[in-house]
Amino acid sequence: MEKILNYIAGNLVEPSHSAYLDNYEPGRGKVYSWVPDSDEHDVEMAFSAAKKAFSAWKNMPLEQRCAILQRLADKIGENKAALALAEAKDNGKPVSLALQVDIPRAESNMRFFATAALHWSSESHIMENEAINYTHRKPIGVVGCISPWNLPLYLFTWKIAPALAAGNCVIAKPSELTPMTAFLLSKLAIEAGLPAGVLNILHGLGPKVGDAIVKHPGIKAISFTGGTATGAYIASTVAPMFKKVSLELGGKNANLIFADADFNEMLSHTLRSSFANQGQICLCGSRILVESSIYDQFKEAFVAKVAAMQLGDPLVESTKMGALVSEAHMNKVLGYIELAKSEGGRVLCGGHRVQMEGELANGYYVAPTVIEGLGPHCRTNMEEIFGPVVTLQKFDNEEEAIELANTGSYGLSATIWTSQLQRAHRVASELHTGIVWVNCWLLRDLRTPFGGVKSSGVGREGGWEAMRFFTEPQNVCIKL
Ligand code: NAD
Repeated sequence: MEKILNYIAGNLVEPSHSAYLDNYEPGRGKVYSWVPDSDEHDVEMAFSAAKKAFSAWKNMPLEQRCAILQRLADKIGENKAALALAEAKDNGKPVSLALQVDIPRAESNMRFFATAALHWSSESHIMENEAINYTHRKPIGVVGCISPWNLPLYLFTWKIAPALAAGNCVIAKPSELTPMTAFLLSKLAIEAGLPAGVLNILHGLGPKVGDAIVKHPGIKAISFTGGTATGAYIASTVAPMFKKVSLELGGKNANLIFADADFNEMLSHTLRSSFANQGQICLCGSRILVESSIYDQFKEAFVAKVAAMQLGDPLVESTKMGALVSEAHMNKVLGYIELAKSEGGRVLCGGHRVQMEGELANGYYVAPTVIEGLGPHCRTNMEEIFGPVVTLQKFDNEEEAIELANTGSYGLSATIWTSQLQRAHRVASELHTGIVWVNCWLLRDLRTPFGGVKSSGVGREGGWEAMRFFTEPQNVCIKL
């Protein structure tokens, strides 16, 4: 069985206590590799390596630093097929999705920030006849990046790329549920000639090695993506240590569907925004709000399409819908379906585990599920389920649609379907979310700020926001 290794000081190494955890293949429900159960000793080793590497990395000529990161982007591109297959096996997502979305995006994350750093400039302010101020944005030093399991390499690179490009050294931890592509990335980093200690990748449990990264006094900034409860714990831990922190957390996103929308275009996108990656994308729309006049038409067409969706082996290219990431997560999702029923919800399709055949028989498959008849304040409509479960609600006018969409503690994203441009602007500006899509979903321009409001997070990633996060501004004021 393959042993995943930590990447410390440029080497692939065993965890300090040689302890390992089982790593499951969700599509088959079986252990297929072992992942290091790292702890604070591994963090200490990674920190020493990162600290030692920092001065040379931050002072390396920018073109040279960026060329190394570009080589890493090239390596991701060259190994696209192998990385996609590894991610499908590790995560349960269809290999076609990993091939079309996750791995290309991981490559463009590296390339985007490698080149962004070349165009990075500092501000200067002139006080007439008195002084010149310039703002020197310096790398912070050693920073921590912690990412979740749903888009393993995509979100991992989304953090480490700006951190490295800005001249920091990184200690990164992928989710213990999906460690494989980060392990493969460490091999590619060695091949790309990344200097030893610049990037260190530690594997293991959140409350153990993750917590040790968060609490390490020498690690000056934490960029975290994951659940809201974990984010709250991290925020409370780092606040008295005065660390910089960026938190990208959960969501319970609304799709607002107006009667004037292009019906067919809306329908096909809504299927995707509901069930892509088995609904395990923080940006999936899990509350579908439909204008009353087209509610029945939408319900009939949507449910027919959802009921026809086929689940399959994540490793087979034709599969469109795979497995959930773990048995525990599958049971959580099934528990929410039972909760929805107890709250008075009517299951229109799905609502159960799918028993697959042959070698998939022990995999974690749940039928795509549509539920109606629930009010906006019930737990099913307020809590993040993070699986293939959506609810339908009706609205009569714009005000009601906005009120429904803004209900609840999350504020990550929303999608508006309408053919009226003015309505799109009007409604978007009333939505309390960090991201709004109009007549599209998951289109991402990497230059734009990304992130949520309310319980969906603080701080922003993407573009200059990410470069800024990973720097410390120092103002120098020179008397004229
Ligand atoms: P999680 O919070 O359980 O874990 C995320 C990461 O944090 C993992 O690497 C985990 O090991 C680590 N971790 C857990 N406890 C920790 C602790 N005490 N200290 C330090 N690290 C710790 O989340 P998850 O289940 O892996 O991911 C799903 C969640 O992520 C969902 O809520 C989803 O909405 C959210 N998410 C948000 C975004 C976004 O951009 N806003 C993107 C993807 C996923």
